[in-house]
Amino acid sequence: MEWQTDLKHFAVNHFLVGLALLTVNFLIHHAFGWLVRGDFQQAVQHIWFVPQLLLCILVADLAQYWTHRAYHEVPYLWRYHSVHHSAKTMDWLAGSRQHMLEVIFTRVCVLAPLFVLGFSEGVVNAYIIIVGFQAVFNHANVHLPWGPLKYLIVTPDFHHWHHASDDEAIDRNYAAHYAFLDYIFGTAVKVPAHKPFPEKYGVVGDYMPDGFVNQQMFPFRAKPAAPAPE
Ligand SMILES: [Zn+2]
Ligand SMILES: [Zn+2]
Repeated sequence: MEWQTDLKHFAVNHFLVGLALLTVNFLIHHAFGWLVRGDFQQAVQHIWFVPQLLLCILVADLAQYWTHRAYHEVPYLWRYHSVHHSAKTMDWLAGSRQHMLEVIFTRVCVLAPLFVLGFSEGVVNAYIIIVGFQAVFNHANVHLPWGPLKYLIVTPDFHHWHHASDDEAIDRNYAAHYAFLDYIFGTAVKVPAHKPFPEKYGVVGDYMPDGFVNQQMFPFRAKPAAPAPE
């Protein structure tokens, strides 16, 4: 059953990794506080909470965008990321399906600039909670009329197209929070007028094994010429 596999991914990726991230954030600000005490970092920390949070999400999503794009464009990295794309039905749980090393590597790439720039502990905690919720929300089967907001923020429709194996959707819609990043970098899906929703999900070629352990082992077992994201 796909959902039982995804439940294991969910437990590992949300609870364990979420807890680890909050702990790292605590340590950075309490044990390694000297790292983030320059004038520039002080200035960042004095921005009001809400604008600082919006800025923090922008920096995080820029880092996330390029990390995510590398996972699609570098064949070796795709071996790990294809686990996330192997879900053939999209629902809130499917988004948790991710290779453990991908989760850790992406979080390091995203959190490092946040600490270097000096975002406050409260803002980074708020970001960690938001990213956990948005990871679930982006995959949920919720279709709402977003209007022009869909060009600004990532909606489930936007991210469902990222998971589509329809031709026009391959290697598109990388953003996790701010959809406008894909419009700026020219990677947004042009949704066909006759087809508002994707026809199929999953990896092209359907080569991912079933089961949590098999999926965690997949990148190490894959042949050197693992199928690239076509
Ligand atoms: Zn992807
Ligand atoms: Zn996804």
